[in-house]
Amino acid sequence: MSKRVNKINVTELDFSSVWSYAASPESTDHIKIAPRYEHFINGEFVRPTSGKYFKTINPTSEAALSELAQGNDKDVDKAVKAARKAYTEVWSKMSGAERGKYLYRIARMIQERSREFAVIESMDGGKPIRESRDIDIPLVAAHFFYYAGWADKLEFAFPGKSVAPIGVCGQIIPWNFPLLMAAWKLAPALACGNTVVLKPAETTSLTAMKLAEVIRDCGLPPGVVNIVTGDGVAGAAIVNHPDVDKIAFTGSTDVGKIIQRATAGTDKRLTLELGGKAAHIIFDDAPLDQAVEGIINGIFFNQGHVCCAGSRLFIQESVHDKVIRKLKDRMNTLVVGDPLDKNTDVGAINSAEQLGKINHYLKLGVKEGAEIWQSSCAIPRKGYFCKPTLFLKASQSHRIVQEEIFGPVLAVQSFRTIEEVIEKANNTPFGLSAGVWTDKGSRIFNLTTKLRAGVVWANTYNKFDPTSPFGGYKESGFGREGGLHGLSAYLKF
Ligand code: NAD
Repeated sequence: MSKRVNKINVTELDFSSVWSYAASPESTDHIKIAPRYEHFINGEFVRPTSGKYFKTINPTSEAALSELAQGNDKDVDKAVKAARKAYTEVWSKMSGAERGKYLYRIARMIQERSREFAVIESMDGGKPIRESRDIDIPLVAAHFFYYAGWADKLEFAFPGKSVAPIGVCGQIIPWNFPLLMAAWKLAPALACGNTVVLKPAETTSLTAMKLAEVIRDCGLPPGVVNIVTGDGVAGAAIVNHPDVDKIAFTGSTDVGKIIQRATAGTDKRLTLELGGKAAHIIFDDAPLDQAVEGIINGIFFNQGHVCCAGSRLFIQESVHDKVIRKLKDRMNTLVVGDPLDKNTDVGAINSAEQLGKINHYLKLGVKEGAEIWQSSCAIPRKGYFCKPTLFLKASQSHRIVQEEIFGPVLAVQSFRTIEEVIEKANNTPFGLSAGVWTDKGSRIFNLTTKLRAGVVWANTYNKFDPTSPFGGYKESGFGREGGLHGLSAYLKF
């Protein structure tokens, strides 16, 4: 039997024909995207002071979906004033049980409109509908449900301590998990009695504006949540506003450093969730087929637009060639294309700018001497797409190993001993996450204590739950989101 299998050279099979499915696109009939969205301030949709708008592009068709208000310091000032008034007069005085009811209502309304949210997330951001439908939006609702449950139990969450809300929170989020990042930030802040000025990323603001509709429709008191759209100018105006008590930022390490400098010397609290370059470690006793699925999920999931993406692969030398063969075979079966198609594994790169950055790293990796290999899958001619890519024979000094690419690009190295892989895995400015595949529990515990990463997954990858804290070491930031740690970040003790 094994002889017969060995005779088949699987890498020569034409996987594109083996795995061609009939198209199965999610309908957009029920989707209503307005031609223009205003800021959401004090419970109303208001025009930007500048009168300026910018377009949001569908990265699959390259066509404009809508236009959004360009925020500036005047808009941010209005939003902060509304948030302060709502904080002082209403929200901080309301009982936790009442606040919780609003959060439960938001969670239920998101569930009711989940299909609409998922489709818009995929249209605006490029992520496959399977992910926005099965991961992002269910997790959004789960975060609101989870923190709704804590709103009237804060004294039990932190026994023996008296807790109070912080005040007005400025929250700035990235484009890779647009609505989920909004939920990670809004739900604990509101549960604790804070009010918020939120700024979504400029390429993916549509689901935040749909969330504004939910917030208005659920009867949340005006000013408790304000949403100002725009680019870094609007973000910086939130960071520098003197009446903001806390900044919660998720985004790149470069912008995180700017924010840390801007808030230094002020009494603003700060949490930073920044970039990553996770080590994904495969030992020779690991279940290799499952590990290969984990690798695929870890880096090609959401086009590699994942802060905790397993972008550095370390394979134990004795199984290196076997794992690479299995990985290449699996990568050849990946379906890259229309994010709205339910067969799609890898969707569109979020923007032309991000695709340009990824292509820059593809050229750089070759120049640095790594061996490039790309999936044989076809990619659409129109839109922003990138083939799932491996860099074999990468080395620690390569920039493709040290810097965050934020695309479907995996740098591969081998190792012999556990000490060697720990040293290599920790040799990075980042420390957000890591993954380990092995049959031995003791080895897992050994590694979890030695890997300098906020999250370490064992024999799985990219699993999230609202009860689990998430956050990084080193240049991946500080502070935790999720679980009780995430709640404590929005309280004064
Ligand atoms: P980015 O830093 O370019 O932008 C993030 C947000 O900051 C956007 O809303 C942007 O408009 C705003 N911004 C830009 N300049 C600003 C300034 N000077 N002051 C205030 N706000 C400013 O990041 P991005 O490209 O949108 O997102 C990708 C990055 O986010 C990656 O590095 C990724 O690793 C990181 N990320 C981290 C986590 C985490 O939990 N650690 C989660 C998701 C994404």
